Amino acid sequence: MVNLQINRAIFSVLLLSILSIYLLSEKPANVAYAQANDDIKIIESKATGIDPKKIVFQITLDSQSSIKEIELNYILESPETNVGGTQNIDAQGKSGYQLFITELSTNDSSRYIPIGVTLTYSWTIESDTGTLFTTEKQTYVFLDGRFDWKKKESNTVEVFYYGDDQRGVTGIGAAKDTLERIAGLLQVEVPYKVKIVIWDTEKNGEAAQRSRGSTFDAAVSTLGTRVATDLVHIYETRGSYADTTRHEIAHIVTHVAGDGSIGKIPAWLDEGTAVYAQKTTTGREFALKQAVRQNTLFRPKTEGVGAPNTSKTVDAFYGQSHAMVTFIISTWGEQKFSELFSVIKAGSTPDGAFQAVYGVDLDDFYNQYRNHEGLEPIEFQNTELQTAPKASATQPPYTIATGTKITSDSKTNKQNSSISSPSTSIDSKDSANRKGRSALTVGLITILLAVILGFASFRLVKQ
Ligand SMILES: [Zn+2]
Repeated sequence: MVNLQINRAIFSVLLLSILSIYLLSEKPANVAYAQANDDIKIIESKATGIDPKKIVFQITLDSQSSIKEIELNYILESPETNVGGTQNIDAQGKSGYQLFITELSTNDSSRYIPIGVTLTYSWTIESDTGTLFTTEKQTYVFLDGRFDWKKKESNTVEVFYYGDDQRGVTGIGAAKDTLERIAGLLQVEVPYKVKIVIWDTEKNGEAAQRSRGSTFDAAVSTLGTRVATDLVHIYETRGSYADTTRHEIAHIVTHVAGDGSIGKIPAWLDEGTAVYAQKTTTGREFALKQAVRQNTLFRPKTEGVGAPNTSKTVDAFYGQSHAMVTFIISTWGEQKFSELFSVIKAGSTPDGAFQAVYGVDLDDFYNQYRNHEGLEPIEFQNTELQTAPKASATQPPYTIATGTKITSDSKTNKQNSSISSPSTSIDSKDSANRKGRSALTVGLITILLAVILGFASFRLVKQ
């Protein structure tokens, strides 16, 4: 966090340079306005997304009193839970016409604010004698400042893209279609507008992705990710990005249908349904066939314990998950499939939900599926598993690729959540109303929508 107080000359140069890279077709961020009380006049306040890693907030004011401190309060808007943070600027006790700038780091080890998120923010200005003024709330849609963004919108979907207009057309078409189809399959409605951000190549979209762990398999690349409950990133548009869009949009619907405050759908069911939403799944079928041949299928009951982390295991995981979902639907029908989700959402374990809806437990189901693939059934020990099904259910296996495992638990408190990953563990509290003074503290307490709500990444092998 960098706090700067700059004189007018530097301000002008900086402003021009920022504006030159911020050539958005729409400019929701640049809300220039004037507010005043007797003592202080706000000339301008705005937010600018420089690139996926940084938002610059700036306020220009004119005051008679000497300003001691300026505090920026921001909230990341989300359909389910709003979190935010505070940035403080030491104003050094000066009066008169002044510009203050604070940079919000949006993608580092302690914080990930995904591109496409809407922030609301306000400033509180303090003099030596106390609070002078709190500005009106402003809204800012965080977009990647390196590109000229365009927007297409329907009543259910909002697509941000740049370059070829076909990207917007394809994105919105695939999203609307999938929302309808998968919401119909799972008998739910997504109660909020879905947002999609489309880059052109994974290389250009890479900076917008959450930092990967060092164990990340370089042969696995990210085509798209659901980064928040209502927000999807599509990084690569060479190839079938309509299918990537279908896959990621399906994750939005599965979350609505199957994730409750206690019950969470297991990753294989989530991913299997997302692949089911695609039109083509060729690469995964090949990997599945190989896994069947080598008898290396994973056991759904313990899925998530040994997470796949290579291109081969990742593809086989998608392939088997998809094949199991297809098998479930063709065996028991769509109506029962939607019930499976709602029973899990109501708090049941996947095992319990299978028993309630299909009359078989997960291992029985797995043996039926193995039989379907021409494999012998397995005699599972009728003992308690070392890993509780619920815990494994909340850890999407692909998070090993993103370097993060999600153990968010919204039942305790909507404003509390915890993140754990192979290398880091952060316990955070909502800081929307918190008066954090330390930049470090602010960094730690700021939680990301995406991290809370979980990643569901969609990956393929680079050719
Ligand atoms: Zn996925």
